[in-house]
Amino acid sequence: MPVSLYGLWSAKMFFGFVIFPTDFDKIVSPISVAHFSQYKLMNLLLERLEKLGFSVCSPSETEGSIWNRKILMGHECISIHPTNEGLKVGTSYLKEGEMEEREFHCSILVGSDGARSTVRKLVDIDMKGERNLQTLVSVHFLSKDLGQYLLHERPGMLFFIFNPDAIGVLVAHDLDQGEFVLQVEQLMLNIPYYSPQQKIEDFSFKDMFNLIQVCEQIILKLVGWKLVDVQVLDIKPWVMHAEVAEKYVSHNNRVILVGDAAHRFPPAGGFGKYF
Ligand SMILES: Cc1cc2nc3c(=O)[nH]c(=O)nc-3n(C[C@H](O)[C@H](O)[C@H](O)COP(=O)(O)OP(=O)(O)OC[C@H]3O[C@@H](n4cnc5c(N)ncnc54)[C@H](O)[C@@H]3O)c2cc1C
Repeated sequence: MPVSLYGLWSAKMFFGFVIFPTDFDKIVSPISVAHFSQYKLMNLLLERLEKLGFSVCSPSETEGSIWNRKILMGHECISIHPTNEGLKVGTSYLKEGEMEEREFHCSILVGSDGARSTVRKLVDIDMKGERNLQTLVSVHFLSKDLGQYLLHERPGMLFFIFNPDAIGVLVAHDLDQGEFVLQVEQLMLNIPYYSPQQKIEDFSFKDMFNLIQVCEQIILKLVGWKLVDVQVLDIKPWVMHAEVAEKYVSHNNRVILVGDAAHRFPPAGGFGKYF
């Protein structure tokens, strides 16, 4: 991966560790780099599947034969039972405002349902490792002002920022559109907020307003000057764990855990889905 280290960011003590977002001329590396937000990657993967002959179906389109290269969206796995032939998997889905359930029979079930994996819980596999290493808050925000500045002055994808007032990681999702995620220690919010027991949705309008203002203050401290157009879209807590499932397979090797369902790591080094 092409990496370029920059020294002092600005007189405001904004230090940058910058990875070029694109290297289309392949000067730095024979492989050009791109950064995809998960929701953009998801759309690309679905497009690719459709090109390979799969059809992506919403729950209302899933009547009839389901095995013929169909990707069934919106189905949540709720039960798993072994049968003589394989597995019976119960799912629930929302159809015209009502929750409905349906069962599937299959030989293999791949549990790729993330860190809080229901599949893993249903087959009674525990996680081992270290929990609650750090509690962070991800602030998803827009600012074309910051995007344009970085695009022209310091193009990059990941900015590790250390200054006397604040520490954080700024992830540039789209410099052109000015879309960012800022990760900061929960302590920096400096207001009572007890995740994961307390959810952002539980906040009153006034608390939420305060929280957004606090986030805007942190962005100001980290960036070093007042951005004219910060728009906070979402604020989500994230507790960092380093855990691995006690085993990856169950039910005669018919249930297989992959991805975060099998292991969740601190993100240093980008140890995500494929590691
Ligand atoms: C803040 C943060 C930053 C990160 N940064 C990076 C990075 O820079 N690089 C990197 O490589 N990795 C990064 N990661 C890790 C990366 O996001 C994960 O490793 C990866 O998304 C795991 O993919 P997954 O498919 O296993 O799980 P997920 O992406 O969590 O997907 C699980 C899917 O299963 C669905 N689901 C949940 N329950 C059920 C159910 N019962 N039935 C059916 N479906 C269900 C969910 O809706 C979801 O769509 C980061 C993670 C976090 C939290």
